[in-house]
Amino acid sequence: MSEQPKPDSPVAAKVFPSPNHGERLGADGTPRRPDMLVLHYTGMPDAGDALQRLCNPAAEVSAHYFVFENGRVLQLVPEGRRAWHAGRASWAGERDINSASIGIEIANPGHEGGLPPYPAAQIAAVIALSRDIVSRWAIPADRVLGHSDVAPERKLDPGELFPWEELNRAGIGHFVRPAPVRGGRFLSPGESGQPVEALQAMLAMYGYDIALTGRYDEATTAVVAAFQRHFRPERIDGIADASTITTLRDLIASRPAATVIV
Ligand SMILES: [Zn+2]
Repeated sequence: MSEQPKPDSPVAAKVFPSPNHGERLGADGTPRRPDMLVLHYTGMPDAGDALQRLCNPAAEVSAHYFVFENGRVLQLVPEGRRAWHAGRASWAGERDINSASIGIEIANPGHEGGLPPYPAAQIAAVIALSRDIVSRWAIPADRVLGHSDVAPERKLDPGELFPWEELNRAGIGHFVRPAPVRGGRFLSPGESGQPVEALQAMLAMYGYDIALTGRYDEATTAVVAAFQRHFRPERIDGIADASTITTLRDLIASRPAATVIV
């Protein structure tokens, strides 16, 4: 009788192995340890179908963990290995997000499935799992991110209903109370000039992959929308209103300086 492999996290009920992984490598070609946590939704109507896809070699996708609606957690890929969850992505100048991160897939039909709210039992499991991971790997709070943060032009997950504020209250991730949405000056798609470049510089300073063109182009609109989805979810329109800019400024000002959650 062969011994059952043990999950890396005690929060995971068991290992349900996916073959879709490789070696973590840094920019210099040496082994890379994970220092980032990336959260996803599956975006499929059925959790079982999503799990099968993440374990299918033909699909060439995976994640380290899978969280069912009822809070049951499976480990698909060992944490020391590079799971294939982020795809083409970038954060804080780094492009191989899969080598840098641990990925959690949360079963949820996503925007295409009407974006149903995350059940409380599922969020409790995500919190317990994330807390365990960030503690064991000393992952900084501002490197707990959504797929949409690291791939703003391609991805919307885990979506604006994901309770980032609740995670932050539980000690996971970086969040500030969003500035209230009201009138005032704002920057919009199509504008150009120094204020637009200053906005791009602030987003880049926080970690978003954005070129400082001074033009409020489609890429800028996508990054502003991704920022709103995570940090100012009340309104996601890609327009940098006063609330968006104030929230971004507060976030940068309150950034944990090289501190980690323990
Ligand atoms: Zn994703």
